[in-house]
Amino acid sequence: MKTDCYKELPSGYREDKVVDAKNVRFGVIMNVVALVVTVATYLLVDLVFAGRLTISDLFRFDFSEGAGSRYVAEVLLPLVVLAVGMIVCIVLHELVHGAAYKILTKEKLTFGLTWSAAYCGVPNLFVGKKTALIAVLSPFVLFTTLFVVLVACVGNTPYGIAVKLIFAVHTGGCAGDLYDAALLLFRYRKGCLMNDDGLRQVFFVQDGQEARG
Ligand SMILES: [Zn+2]
Repeated sequence: MKTDCYKELPSGYREDKVVDAKNVRFGVIMNVVALVVTVATYLLVDLVFAGRLTISDLFRFDFSEGAGSRYVAEVLLPLVVLAVGMIVCIVLHELVHGAAYKILTKEKLTFGLTWSAAYCGVPNLFVGKKTALIAVLSPFVLFTTLFVVLVACVGNTPYGIAVKLIFAVHTGGCAGDLYDAALLLFRYRKGCLMNDDGLRQVFFVQDGQEARG
């Protein structure tokens, strides 16, 4: 086990903050933020890579001769790629959290899915700030890089629109991770311990330590 990870909360620490996706108010707010981030990401990616909004291309289909096979290639298959891609992306996102936690802590992981979030955590461990940051941010960093390369490769084809939509939804889905990362970076500048069961992150600081340091 890494030196900044503990099986039990070391003495001298107290609970400072709980981020709980099971909490209805927090879950709803996080999903609204996710939606806003999704739309903003799509607009930004489209403007950067295409210089215009390309999503309307999907609805501007020319039903002239030979439309049947073109409809399959230009609309139906990209929609299948979109649907399957979203599911694969959610699974891979959680596996990347899991891989980071596994490599850094060697501990047993939990995975799951609820109405508000898919999740992965290490419920029986208190991890230090560096381990927590790497674990919460690794899917965002990895997939954002991958999607930028993919969008650049696929271009403005119907598949490109599907990839851009998955990119946007993934970035929106990282809202909770980015919130945790922001807490770790800005609220816990002096360090902290985090217990993460996947849905609920509890942050601990040392007695006498002001959270905002
Ligand atoms: Zn995540």
